[in-house]
Amino acid sequence: MSKSQHIMVEKCVIDLIIIHGETKPVGGFKHFTPGKLIAQTQANYFFENILKSKVKEKMIVGQYINTDKNRNRDSYSFANINLLGRCNVDCFFCLGKDIKEELRPHNQLDLHFKEWRNFWDFLERCRTEKVGKLYITGQNTDSLLYKYLDELIDHLHSLEFKVGLRTNGYLALEKMHTINKCELSAGYSIHTLSPLTNRMIMRRKDIPDWARIISLTERPRVSIVLNRCNQHELFNVLDYLKNFINIRYIQVRRISTDTRIEELTPDMVAYEQVYSQVRNIFPLKKTLWGDAEVYDIFGKDVVFWRTVKTSVNSLNYFTDGTVSDMYFIVEGYKKYCK
Ligand code: SF4
Repeated sequence: MSKSQHIMVEKCVIDLIIIHGETKPVGGFKHFTPGKLIAQTQANYFFENILKSKVKEKMIVGQYINTDKNRNRDSYSFANINLLGRCNVDCFFCLGKDIKEELRPHNQLDLHFKEWRNFWDFLERCRTEKVGKLYITGQNTDSLLYKYLDELIDHLHSLEFKVGLRTNGYLALEKMHTINKCELSAGYSIHTLSPLTNRMIMRRKDIPDWARIISLTERPRVSIVLNRCNQHELFNVLDYLKNFINIRYIQVRRISTDTRIEELTPDMVAYEQVYSQVRNIFPLKKTLWGDAEVYDIFGKDVVFWRTVKTSVNSLNYFTDGTVSDMYFIVEGYKKYCK
């Protein structure tokens, strides 16, 4: 192991110990005792299984906190409409927190899309770039909170775009009719089935009724952000999801950040720990977009997704009028916002 890798490993361990010792509140652990216990377990695991194992050091450490971005992008295959406003949960890893101050003044949740700045230019750009798939998502809010969502989907359809959306699911039962208008997938964030863990992650203890929501959704997919709070629950969640035959795609995401790498390093460590288990146990089916490996876990295709490493590419529109030709959301927003 190189000297720089030694330094990186030591830093990860120090971060974990600091969390446990409460000398520096990090991420979602400021208020939740169980999180500290998980952090302690994680630190112990790290000492026992990483630092003392030369084999694992070579296999894993180089990837642990490798946050270099893959700048070799494919041509654009989709575009995101990133809503800005307030969310109904408060995930500690939310990408919106990377640019919290920049986004604070913006809220277009009640503004009709015909009044969104540059929106028509953005749709025209999509046509020019031959991008036909649009995903409605939130940068710091949830797509189902948008007042004119149903009308927006109809309008995009009238322009012959295909539409999908991403949501935390809290309003899914109320908006199921709108969700099922999307001919692309409806992506749900299901990080845990435990109310306590959910509170640590999203600052909200109640959990959407996933059994009903998934059963009623025509094209559901699931995204799990693997982090320090839920790393020991991933296989329970996957075991639960295997029962839904309409779920064809499950994505296990590593947290993504441009401005909080130090704060969120323990979550990337947690991700790589679980990934190292997966790749030694489950069969690899294929690799997508340069880096995203698909494993067969309990009969489902489960994709391990490190945003910075893939080659997939998208245009991005933000409802304050910012248009970005960069896949990297935060970097693109900072470059083009006015
Ligand atoms: S649901 Fe999404 S937008 Fe809302 S806080 Fe969580 S990560 Fe951020």
